[in-house]
Amino acid sequence: MGKHVIILGGGVIGLSAALECQQRGHKVTLLEITACGGQASGAAAGMLAPYSEIAEDPDDFFRLSQQSLKLYPKWQQIVKELSGSEFEYRNTGSLYAIFHDAERLPLETRMKWQQNFGVKASILERDELERIEPNLSSNISAALYCPEESHVYAPDYVKALKQACINSGVVIHEHLEHVNILEWQQNVVLQSKNGQRFYGDTLVISNGAWSTELEDTFGISIPVFPIRGQICAYKMTEPIHHLVFTSQGYLVSKENGSLVCGASEDIAGFDTSVTEKGIARLERWNKKVIPKLHEREPFHRWAGLRPATQDGFPLIGKLMPFEHIIFATGHYRNGILLSPVTANIVADQLDGLSDRLPLDNFNPLRFSITNTF
Ligand SMILES: Cc1cc2nc3c(=O)[nH]c(=O)nc-3n(C[C@H](O)[C@H](O)[C@H](O)COP(=O)(O)OP(=O)(O)OC[C@H]3O[C@@H](n4cnc5c(N)ncnc54)[C@H](O)[C@@H]3O)c2cc1C
Repeated sequence: MGKHVIILGGGVIGLSAALECQQRGHKVTLLEITACGGQASGAAAGMLAPYSEIAEDPDDFFRLSQQSLKLYPKWQQIVKELSGSEFEYRNTGSLYAIFHDAERLPLETRMKWQQNFGVKASILERDELERIEPNLSSNISAALYCPEESHVYAPDYVKALKQACINSGVVIHEHLEHVNILEWQQNVVLQSKNGQRFYGDTLVISNGAWSTELEDTFGISIPVFPIRGQICAYKMTEPIHHLVFTSQGYLVSKENGSLVCGASEDIAGFDTSVTEKGIARLERWNKKVIPKLHEREPFHRWAGLRPATQDGFPLIGKLMPFEHIIFATGHYRNGILLSPVTANIVADQLDGLSDRLPLDNFNPLRFSITNTF
């Protein structure tokens, strides 16, 4: 029998989980204190790039990210069909560019272990780069090419997710200002600032960088904190065909003619302002990667709060022994990428299905030596 699921937070993670749970026959209510997609999710560059993002190890986070990338072609098609709207999703492939020979060995090491995990990856030399991306700096000596990496236009993707949820029957309450969890150990009862009460039998925690506010409610440690990302966009008529990564940032060309370049990683609390210093650093670096940017200035600058965690891994899974409380938060730099796999894991857990991936390292209780249950 379908459960009544309450989802706390309407970013890409809450909306994706809501859609998947509703599609599987559950009755879903989503609560959002501001506007759906109004925080990190709407600010993201939209890269689906686990191979460029994860340099070190084939760990469980890599496996989670790789599975999510593989789910994307079908997932984005479903979101488009259910929402009746289009959004940019492009499999452009990526180039992780290096400037110096000293960077070559780490790049080759990364390529080798990724190939062992079935990743299509190869190193392209200067001549080949010149041919396929003539606007890149001639100081770039080589690049790791990963043809499977892709990107979405995140603001439109999140809008489509919301519409797909509504069309599927998810009840969404926005602009609630504040939501209190009144009861959770047996029944789930929440109350918004205006006194409206919401009742369910399952609660999904997907309120991103604000999750730590729930530490007292659950009596556990939830070390999720905001890391501000400042980001900017240029008008660009010359095409940049691939996602371009370097050790200092990334560039991604969108169908609307903008070149999105990111992003800083600042500790600034919940401040989402853009600083001269933050954007100036991006600008200096962007010009090194694409010399034509010397003649341009960004036309748009913005910032968002990534939900970072103490160990860099998200919190995904049940708050055992309370099987009806499911965490899906702390996706830091990769929440757009991880949205399909997280949605599926949340729905699998709701349906009592076995885990599709090892989840122990994402256990929401892993930071709590003692809890007050
Ligand atoms: C500049 C930048 C670039 C990025 N680029 C990429 C990228 O290229 N690829 C990628 O995969 N990821 C990227 N990310 C990361 C990605 O945006 C995040 O990982 C993702 O958006 C997290 O989604 P979320 O739903 O957990 O959080 P959010 O989108 O922040 O949503 C959480 C929501 O919960 C709401 N909320 C808070 N408290 C409550 C409460 N008590 N009750 C109800 N609602 C509440 C908030 O208002 C908010 O809307 C980027 C992030 C930034 C900032």
